[in-house]
Amino acid sequence: MKTAEILKRLVQLSHELGREDRQLAILGEGNVSADLGDGTFYIKASGSPLATIDGGGFTRVNMSPVFEALDQPDKTDDEVRKVLETCRVDKKAKLPSVETFLHAICLKEGGAKWVGHAHPVSVLKILCSKLGAEPFRRHIFPDEIVVCGRHLAIVPYVDPGIRLAVALRKSLRLFRNKYDTSPRVILMVNHGPVVLGQTNRDVLSLMLMLDKWASLLAGIYAVGEPQFLEEKNSDRIENRPDEHYRRRAIGRLK
Ligand SMILES: [Zn+2]
Repeated sequence: MKTAEILKRLVQLSHELGREDRQLAILGEGNVSADLGDGTFYIKASGSPLATIDGGGFTRVNMSPVFEALDQPDKTDDEVRKVLETCRVDKKAKLPSVETFLHAICLKEGGAKWVGHAHPVSVLKILCSKLGAEPFRRHIFPDEIVVCGRHLAIVPYVDPGIRLAVALRKSLRLFRNKYDTSPRVILMVNHGPVVLGQTNRDVLSLMLMLDKWASLLAGIYAVGEPQFLEEKNSDRIENRPDEHYRRRAIGRLK
């Protein structure tokens, strides 16, 4: 896909995620990125609102300096800013998001081509509760497994920026060691989700299904306890051939 087409789709995806009625992100919240396949990627510039962003709200950055910076995560705020300034392909472009480090890891180590991060009201109702990410370890309906996957990766609360990216990398590697694949959803406790897709459509599907799942959980906890699916039934959904077909049909698998 041409760079201009990827940028166009990033803008479209941002508008979908930033829609006021969806309550996934307001003001400058959230960010999206896409791999350009040549050692660079597009990432939202710092502070740009998803709802109204245009092509100028994205910055193309080099993967290498971003990745090298992760070897020394104890950087001062000024040093982090320096990395964000120097990683830009076009030095006149806006400063990329402070979550550039996190996106770089998802694109390089998480097997993703497109990445989305938001602060959905529904998901934060759970992640900011005493339960944290625990309710998402089991399932309550089949389609959340089909779209979001049987298991999600979880990251404890860490200061946003380079330290959070390092914590996320650790959780991604643990997940890969355990399940021999990358997660489609990463939940950052007291912060929000990151979704890993192969296409722009994947990112939106993942975020919308996760939002539905979390809305259901929040409503269920308001009246009682969830009736979780049995583990064997959740495993069955994940492995059924017809569910693989459905997953492809919604754009999850190539
Ligand atoms: Zn965030």
